Amino acid sequence: MGNDGNGDRGVCVKLEDRRASSRRLPDEGPVECVAEARLPTEVGEFRILGFRHRASHEEFVVLAKGEFSADRSCLVRIHSQCLTGDVFHSVKCDCGRQLRRAMEMIEDEGVGAIVYQQQEGRGIGIMNKLRAYALQDQGRDTVEANLELGLAVDGRSYEGCAEVLQALGLRRLRVLSNNPAKISALEAAGLIVDARVPLEMPPAGENLDYLRVKKEKMGHLLSGV
Ligand SMILES: [Zn+2]
Repeated sequence: MGNDGNGDRGVCVKLEDRRASSRRLPDEGPVECVAEARLPTEVGEFRILGFRHRASHEEFVVLAKGEFSADRSCLVRIHSQCLTGDVFHSVKCDCGRQLRRAMEMIEDEGVGAIVYQQQEGRGIGIMNKLRAYALQDQGRDTVEANLELGLAVDGRSYEGCAEVLQALGLRRLRVLSNNPAKISALEAAGLIVDARVPLEMPPAGENLDYLRVKKEKMGHLLSGV
C-alpha cells in the first residue's frame, strides 16, 4: 500500500505516516497510545511513540520506522531497559551496542520497530541491579548475584510488549533477539514469528564472562562465546 503516484516522495511518506498513525491510536484494547512524534537520531529519522497499559499502567516507548502492515513480516526488537549499557555505555553487558545495532538494521531496512521495555535489570530495578553489580565485584556472576539478593534471575514478562506490537497493527515478525523466552512469549500472545534474527555483538571489554553466563545458565543463543 501507499504508492499513490505522488512524485514527491517526502510528501508521500508524510501522508502515509499520518494515515498510519491515525490507525495506530486505538480507542480500546489493552494499551493506549499516549503520544507520537518524530525523532531524528544519529542513526536516522524515526517516529517515537508512548504507550501505556490500561490495566497495569506499565509504560512502553516505541521507536518506529516506515509503514506497518499485518501481512508483511516486520523487523522488531523488544529491548529491555539497561541504564548502565544504553546510557553510560557500560561494557559489563552488550545491551547498548545491541540497541544501536537494532536501530541501524531498522534504518537500513526502512521499516521496523523497537519496543523499549522499562524493566531495568531483567525486572529487578536499577537499585537492585547496582546491588547485584556490587556482588559481581566480589566475584559472583549475574545469576548468582540475583539469587544471593533473593531476586528473580529474570523477572521480565513480555505480554505488554506483544500487546503494543498488536496495537501497532503488526502480526508477523522477524525478531531481533538471542533470547528464546522472548520468541515464545510473542508466539504465546498470538503473534507469528517468521524468524529469529540473531543480534550478537562481538565480546568487548569485560562482557565475555557475562555472555557466557547468559548462554550457559539462561539459554541465550550465542555462537561467539
Ligand atoms: Zn545491559
